[in-house]
Amino acid sequence: MKTIVLGGGVIGVTTAYYLAQEGHEVAVLEARDSLGTDATGGNAGLIAPGHSFAWASPAAPRMLLASLRGEATAIRVKPRLDAKLVTWGLQFLRECTPARAEANTLIKLGLCRYSQGQLDELAAAESIDYNHVQKGLAYLYRTQQDLDAGVKKMDLLRRQGVPMDILDADQVAKLDPAFASAGKTFAGAIHVTSDASGNSELFTTELAERCRKLGVEFRLGVTAQRFVTAADRVTGVQTDAGLFTADNYVLALGIQSPFLAKTAGQRLPMYPAKGYSLTADIVDPDAAPTVGGVDEATLVAWSRFGDQLRMSSTAEFAGFNRDWKFSDFSNMLKTGREIFPRAVDWDRARMRSCMRPMTPDGPPIIGRGKQANLFYNTGHGHMGWTMACGSSRLLADVVAGRPAALDMAPFQVRSHRVAA
Ligand SMILES: Cc1cc2nc3c(=O)[nH]c(=O)nc-3n(C[C@H](O)[C@H](O)[C@H](O)COP(=O)(O)OP(=O)(O)OC[C@H]3O[C@@H](n4cnc5c(N)ncnc54)[C@H](O)[C@@H]3O)c2cc1C
Repeated sequence: MKTIVLGGGVIGVTTAYYLAQEGHEVAVLEARDSLGTDATGGNAGLIAPGHSFAWASPAAPRMLLASLRGEATAIRVKPRLDAKLVTWGLQFLRECTPARAEANTLIKLGLCRYSQGQLDELAAAESIDYNHVQKGLAYLYRTQQDLDAGVKKMDLLRRQGVPMDILDADQVAKLDPAFASAGKTFAGAIHVTSDASGNSELFTTELAERCRKLGVEFRLGVTAQRFVTAADRVTGVQTDAGLFTADNYVLALGIQSPFLAKTAGQRLPMYPAKGYSLTADIVDPDAAPTVGGVDEATLVAWSRFGDQLRMSSTAEFAGFNRDWKFSDFSNMLKTGREIFPRAVDWDRARMRSCMRPMTPDGPPIIGRGKQANLFYNTGHGHMGWTMACGSSRLLADVVAGRPAALDMAPFQVRSHRVAA
């Protein structure tokens, strides 16, 4: 069985791996000259079932209104005439009821936990070193009031068996000596002890090497332009390097997926949430954290990638423009200098933007679409690194026609969620 996987991010490469293991002859088409450099190369590195909360929540509409009034908020919307944003936004708002938010969170949590297990298994089986740190993640709060609210919110995950400790300021400083330099900034933290961190770009390139040994062909610098279809099948994918044909096709283009899906008659409910990402060489290893985490006040997240510190922040709904300016990083730089002042040379941090491929409800899109031989593995939003191995393992089950480990209904290929 010949299969073409479109997209060489963490989702495309993990898909290629699981399919190749089952005997598929796999080719991966990737527009860039290297693998895992788009969203996969810019994320915060958190492997975080403890961060599974759906963004569409009862608190979100207030935040969006505040953003439209020009206030500084975690989720930002730039008002613009954009039919895609309006359609996506209306679907998002419909998901903001307490019941929908809880349902979506639990679906995401189930996938994240399954996926973390698959990641651990795969990395052990293939001996992949990807700067993995298994020390839990710290969700840090600056006031007791915020910590109490965080604990209340986390109760949903705790009741599902997610292990966590509530730490006061002294315990935070003991968890990782680097947190001590933050002084009295934090009142405490929720330490989700089963969460982890790791470098998804490194993981992707290492896994690609294992894939090559399984016979996977990587075609770099090839941009997919449209599907060619006949009756209920895809018969080829037209690219800037000619027509590629196979028995099966998997769409894993991250935020570009809706454009290709449209050529197969499928509207996908995805919109980019632009984020900003900073990477800096560590100059004082003792002053840099090994425990990854999130400053819940500024929503800056970080992970240690060996001798580098990665930070990311911000979710901006402002179209597909990837431009960034220095001021987009001021929140991150201020937070970094405040909590890890000596860890890196903040003036020499490398900066970039990248885009989370968000669905309005939160769960990604995994499964077979209108054409019998076109499969989707996309829309992983802010959790795609955590969800990658699980999603791709599930997709391999769908392709093989065997029962998957999770209920696949929440991940069905859709243009909108049909109300339950
Ligand atoms: C700021 C930020 C922080 C994040 N933090 C975390 C985190 O801490 N933990 C977590 O779990 N997740 C996090 N994420 C989410 C995670 O990074 C993404 O969900 C995940 O990387 C998506 O992977 P992907 O393979 O679908 O997309 P991508 O990595 O974007 O890969 C898609 C690939 O398709 C290629 N492509 C696009 N169009 C074409 C075309 N026409 N033809 C051929 N190739 C094409 C691209 O070049 C790209 O390589 C974060 C994301 C952002 C933006």
